[in-house]
Amino acid sequence: MNAQLKFDTLNFDNSFVRELPADPETDNSLRQVTGACYSLVKPTPVVKPSLVGYSKEVAALLDMSTELCESDLFTEVFSGNRVLEEMQPYAMCYGGHQFGNWAGQLGDGRAINLGEVLNSEGQRYTLQLKGAGVTPYSRSADGLAVLRSSVREFLCSEAMHHLGVPTTRALSLVLTGEEVMRDMFYDGHPRLEPGAIVCRVAPSFIRFGSFQLLAAQNDIDTLRQLVDYVIRNDFPELGTPGKEVYLRWFEEVCRRTAEMIVHWQRVGFVHGVMNTDNMSILGLTIDYGPYGWLEDYDPDWTPNTTDAQGRRYRYGHQPQIAMWNLIQLANALVPLIEDTTPLEESLQVYPATFQDSWQNTMADKLGLKSFQGEDDKYLIDDLMELLREVETDMTIFYRQLAKLDTELDDVSAVSREGLLQVLQISYYRNEELSADYRDNIDSWLRRYVQRVQHDGRSNDERATAMNAVNPKYVLRNYLAQVAIDQSEKGDHTLVKELLDVLRNPYEEQAEKETQYYQKRPDWARSRAGCSMLSCSS
Ligand code: AMP
Ligand code: MG
Repeated sequence: MNAQLKFDTLNFDNSFVRELPADPETDNSLRQVTGACYSLVKPTPVVKPSLVGYSKEVAALLDMSTELCESDLFTEVFSGNRVLEEMQPYAMCYGGHQFGNWAGQLGDGRAINLGEVLNSEGQRYTLQLKGAGVTPYSRSADGLAVLRSSVREFLCSEAMHHLGVPTTRALSLVLTGEEVMRDMFYDGHPRLEPGAIVCRVAPSFIRFGSFQLLAAQNDIDTLRQLVDYVIRNDFPELGTPGKEVYLRWFEEVCRRTAEMIVHWQRVGFVHGVMNTDNMSILGLTIDYGPYGWLEDYDPDWTPNTTDAQGRRYRYGHQPQIAMWNLIQLANALVPLIEDTTPLEESLQVYPATFQDSWQNTMADKLGLKSFQGEDDKYLIDDLMELLREVETDMTIFYRQLAKLDTELDDVSAVSREGLLQVLQISYYRNEELSADYRDNIDSWLRRYVQRVQHDGRSNDERATAMNAVNPKYVLRNYLAQVAIDQSEKGDHTLVKELLDVLRNPYEEQAEKETQYYQKRPDWARSRAGCSMLSCSS
């Protein structure tokens, strides 16, 4: 190890621990915590940590050199084996509604925050290890994470960032050298899996459930302290905390949440577990568990087998669930506002922002200059119907649509098959393309060509605009699973390759097409990990 290497670029400033009340108990035992926002607890050392990969962009955010990231010291620190002097590790206390039911205290059961750093630009980031051992909030679980779920969290955090979706980030992925027992589908088939730790990075990991738990405990003093802290640190532009500012802050949370959900719908991301403890107060995508990507466009799809019955968290339901979650947050804030009417009014920011932003996004996805009201609404709604009627790969469909020639003098001179040709590769089952369906998509395409011609956009102009919002490469479920299979055998090449391809999801990367711009293969249709995931991680 290079003895000179140090983390001296990291400028620690642990405001959360400094400004908010701590659990007075410091032993690492299970307990109900009151009057506090966190418990001090150290990561559990691991046997033999080794680095699988790291994100160079996140390292750059933290002013870390390549040499440092590739050093033993880095692996020691981000496996939790070495706690730097300035770190003050802690687990956060929060509660939440799980699948619609109040679950009481949850907390960081396996996440340990190392501390906050200010980078050279003055931006604040919390460093958090996920899978670093038990905490006072571990309940009956082991505090650990396995490689399978850690690869998924590591890759997806970074992929989402590069897609332009607000998200927590991932600095590193390390193997612990230990094995962890998991029963993936809770069906009596446990197996030993490699243990792993991801270092997550975000301005803050505070959740809706952080406020909910304090409200449920009727601890209004601590609730106010937490709200004031969040406003001072993450929403300083709103001014000095007080009743009016609380409302403006809540509106901002509604606005950010709406924007985040619009992004999810745009790229076809399904979170899978939108419990209120998995909702970031900053409007970031947080807690990558049994998430998935829409392959064929199916609004009823959920990747989470634990949710297979009610499908509460299915793709098409995400916008309503976010609203439901915001209502729970509003309920938690009632004691501070002492009146429900203004909170109800503020809540309306969510549907208003969502609708507006979604219409604009859909116009962008179709390459229209702007959303033009009723007619565009029908054009979009009709497309949604067609997309779900036959199995159509959502990602491929929009990229192919960008290639449609709309600069035709006379669209009626083009045959149905001629129009449809460019879309052909987006369909999963050719036999589903009945004459009726072909007629319907054909007439939709003709309407679309007319609409684009009304805008006067050239093919090039429109394709460039569309390709900036419709990704060509997403973390397809089966690709993540193939990377995991290889990684579990000790070959991390595909993890790194995917990290790399997904850095530029909107670019053509022609040499990557045959491998990554492909529909889900048939073998992946019903394979565990590819279309079915559980909360076990
Ligand atoms: P999730 O559904 O993954 O967001 O987790 C819900 C709660 O369970 C959170 O409080 C997690 O910290 C906790 N949890 C999940 N897995 C584990 C684990 N292996 N060990 C301890 N706590 C866990
Ligand atoms: Mg969670």
